[in-house]
Amino acid sequence: MLTLDNLTISQGEFRLVANLTLATGSRTAVIGPSGAGKSTLLGAIAGFIAPSAGRILWNETEITRTPPGARPLSILFQDQNLFPHLSVAQNIGLGISPALRLSRADHTRIEAALERTGLAGLGARKPAALSGGQQSRVALARALLRAKPLLLLDEPFSALGPALKSEMLSLVAEIAQEQGTTLLMVSHDPDDARALCPQTVPVENGTAHPPQPTDALLDNPPPALRAYLGP
Ligand code: ADP
Ligand code: MG
Repeated sequence: MLTLDNLTISQGEFRLVANLTLATGSRTAVIGPSGAGKSTLLGAIAGFIAPSAGRILWNETEITRTPPGARPLSILFQDQNLFPHLSVAQNIGLGISPALRLSRADHTRIEAALERTGLAGLGARKPAALSGGQQSRVALARALLRAKPLLLLDEPFSALGPALKSEMLSLVAEIAQEQGTTLLMVSHDPDDARALCPQTVPVENGTAHPPQPTDALLDNPPPALRAYLGP
């Protein structure tokens, strides 16, 4: 279970407060207007932004001040943060060893992750020699291999076309199911939230609210969210 206990994040004038829990294995969308603090929320959970108050816990363990790399999570961003000078297999290997000290068993796991994400045979290529959809798969393969209990997604596939995006989201959901991963996904597309996430955290007016059933929330949104979602 992820617990945000009076978590307060300040960036200049901006302030966001979160008081909520996410059950282990749950899938949660994060929805709110641009600039509402969705990326800030994920950045704080991932450890890139230090909160000014409150606590973050994974199960019983407080991770508020744990360095990003030591937190029980992976994060996928919109730009897939692949290293252009490394091969696809090496980019994925970074998920196991940041210094790329990889054993034979590690290489076997990388091959399996390539296979699982539909990239079999492409391990030797550089990212530039892949399509956008394939690059997204590489980033996902790296996260899959890390097999962390929590996966944070910050609109990772929004640069892809709608068909590819929904294909990638299905793959994420499948892999999360297989690994029992707790998923927290920022999306500006209500349909993605409905398709993938039974519950949604609305972010507005400086608050990340506790998760609510996605369909009910989107069918009858509160005013601040209604303006954003449109008719
Ligand atoms: P969202 O992801 O919901 O679009 P963000 O989390 O990126 O929103 O931004 C939330 C707020 O924090 C915005 O009002 C933005 O202007 C502000 N902000 C983001 N980064 C910084 C920063 N480095 N310094 C000051 N303010 C920032
Ligand atoms: Mg954002």
